[in-house]
Amino acid sequence: MGIYVHVPFCRSKCFYCGFYSVASLKLKEAYLDAIEREIVLRIGYLPRRESDTLYFGGGTPSYLDRDDLGRIIRKLEENYSFTANAERTIELNPEDLIPEKLQGIKELGFNRLSVGVQSFSDEQLKRINRTHSSRQAREGIELAANMGFDNISMDLIIGLPGQTEDELLVDVIQASHLPIVHLSVYMLSIDSNTVFEHMVKQGKFQLEDEEVMAVRYQRVCERLKKLGFEHYEISNFARNGKYSKHNTSYWQQKPYIGFGPSAHSYDLYSRQWNTANLKVYMESLNHGILPFEKEELKSVDLYNEYVMTNLRTMWGMEKQKLEENYAEFWEQVQVQVRKYENSGDLIEERGRWKISETGWVISDAILSDLFVV
Ligand code: SF4
Repeated sequence: MGIYVHVPFCRSKCFYCGFYSVASLKLKEAYLDAIEREIVLRIGYLPRRESDTLYFGGGTPSYLDRDDLGRIIRKLEENYSFTANAERTIELNPEDLIPEKLQGIKELGFNRLSVGVQSFSDEQLKRINRTHSSRQAREGIELAANMGFDNISMDLIIGLPGQTEDELLVDVIQASHLPIVHLSVYMLSIDSNTVFEHMVKQGKFQLEDEEVMAVRYQRVCERLKKLGFEHYEISNFARNGKYSKHNTSYWQQKPYIGFGPSAHSYDLYSRQWNTANLKVYMESLNHGILPFEKEELKSVDLYNEYVMTNLRTMWGMEKQKLEENYAEFWEQVQVQVRKYENSGDLIEERGRWKISETGWVISDAILSDLFVV
């Protein structure tokens, strides 16, 4: 199983970001009290209480100080256990890559850093309202590596306003020169309730053309391959087999518990998601009530989830499992798979169907054709 902790605080809101967070630390103490309660109240959600992974995401978890993070970890360790070599990840913004902060994070037992770099162009960083410079990102990652962190991931975005293909590829090359073992590359999208969504409505901003984005994505994939990165999931690339264990366990449909506002939990049969409202989250927990909604998964949901999670990785879907567990959809699966096998976008290897190198760029279309609605 995996444990996810959502820290819903940021210094300011990035213009593209649809994750739940607030740009203030005013409610920090009340949030810490509430999440401690939630950690205790969720005992018993899963039969097993030993976790292989821990992931602090957000928001900006590195915005909290060492003692705040320590409070959450202490409460987790009092109520759950972790395997000896558990992967413990924390997301950081580059401005937090400073010696005191990194030392605290190390002492708390985090062994993997995920750094939100997004771009190495200061101009582009300003256009999306990031609060750091490219220099802070580069120097910070070097510093973290020198302090002994050997499992560092960073993020880049394709399709930033004004970004050219050359600039994007320069970012990719710069990233590859840093001591990172993992890179996530996301396509810019327009999420609800973001500044970019308002700007699009007002005609002040427009996403890059879909075909242009697709070509850029393909160039990034090709370049990263040449630079020694393995493309193991639609948006994720790793060196030396350093896949994200936590995210891979989502894609392999392993159960997990999420704590904090907007966090999701999954027990193989149903999904739960906490309210994405910090005040409602805290008030509910003050009354001893877990603030979540729940969906029981029907066989069609389980089938769609199997396709969505497995096919997005280089390990693909297991034919036998599909035939046995989802027999009612087997005919339809075969028809769709044949179509993409004929076009070369899906391949079969050792009893598994996988997206081919040329197929990654149309993975959304493949997934949606395989879904049953
Ligand atoms: S991208 Fe990260 S730092 Fe920016 S608003 Fe979203 S969660 Fe906060």
